[in-house]
Amino acid sequence: MSRVDPGYLPRGNPCAQCGEPISAPDWIETGPGRASYLWTCRACDYRFEAIAFFDQAEPDRQAALAA
Ligand SMILES: [Zn+2]
Repeated sequence: MSRVDPGYLPRGNPCAQCGEPISAPDWIETGPGRASYLWTCRACDYRFEAIAFFDQAEPDRQAALAA
């Protein structure tokens, strides 16, 4: 689980407001060790962002915290 699969896409994320599953994120922004997903619910029009952190970022974060 230490590698990021570039084809990885979260699917069926439930809406944070009404719980309706959303098939795919509207927009994705990737950075070093993380990815942000913007979800828009078609049922209630609610928009929210989810951020995923990958294992890759752990050594850097730990080093920064320890410094
Ligand atoms: Zn919703």
